[in-house]
Amino acid sequence: MFKLLIYAVFLYVIYRLLTGSRKKKPVGSGSGGQGAGEISIHDQLVEDPVCHIYIPKRQAIVLHDTDTPVFFCSEQCRKIYCDSREIKLS
Ligand SMILES: [Zn+2]
Repeated sequence: MFKLLIYAVFLYVIYRLLTGSRKKKPVGSGSGGQGAGEISIHDQLVEDPVCHIYIPKRQAIVLHDTDTPVFFCSEQCRKIYCDSREIKLS
């Protein structure tokens, strides 16, 4: 009789865990694709010095011909930046 009570409580706990995790699932599978650990590093935002918008680092166009790498939203912005500073692209 006592064992049956423990068994019932055990089932109830499992039931609660299952229903609880179902509610949390849609929140986790929100942002796009790939490994979760990878996203947090590569989705770091960088500012485009030409049009001043923020782009994810992995999507940015990088200019290495400066002291520190400069990130741009497009080739066009990189060209404007280079033209204004007389940087020749390698
Ligand atoms: Zn730009």
